[in-house]
Amino acid sequence: MKKRIALIAHDKKKDELVDFVKKHKDFFSKYELVGTGTTGTRIIQATDLNIIRYLSGPLGGDQQIGADIANEVILAVFFFRDPLSAMPHEPDVQALIRLSDVHKIPIATNSETAELLIKGLNY
Ligand code: PGA
Repeated sequence: MKKRIALIAHDKKKDELVDFVKKHKDFFSKYELVGTGTTGTRIIQATDLNIIRYLSGPLGGDQQIGADIANEVILAVFFFRDPLSAMPHEPDVQALIRLSDVHKIPIATNSETAELLIKGLNY
């Protein structure tokens, strides 16, 4: 059963995702949350939400979330990515987005799409 929500933010987008999760804490508290290492730590520090923290993205965390997607346990992905910086783990980023499309998992890659996704999931 899909009940997990995945949270990932690149470094320049972490503040934005933390603010977003704080704003929608009631929504996120209804789900089991998984996140990449640093993103997960930042959100835990800013809220009292429980988050299963995977490895940091560049060390394999994106791929761990990809494995959850492939295993059909992810309901939606909130991935605030930085489109203006080169990432050493760009192949992993692409793989995560590709797997979301393969399995038709909603994935919000910016805050405006994320707002709409929350509205859709609350509908
Ligand atoms: P991080 O990973 O949360 O460990 O920083 C995110 C990423 O860059 O993929």
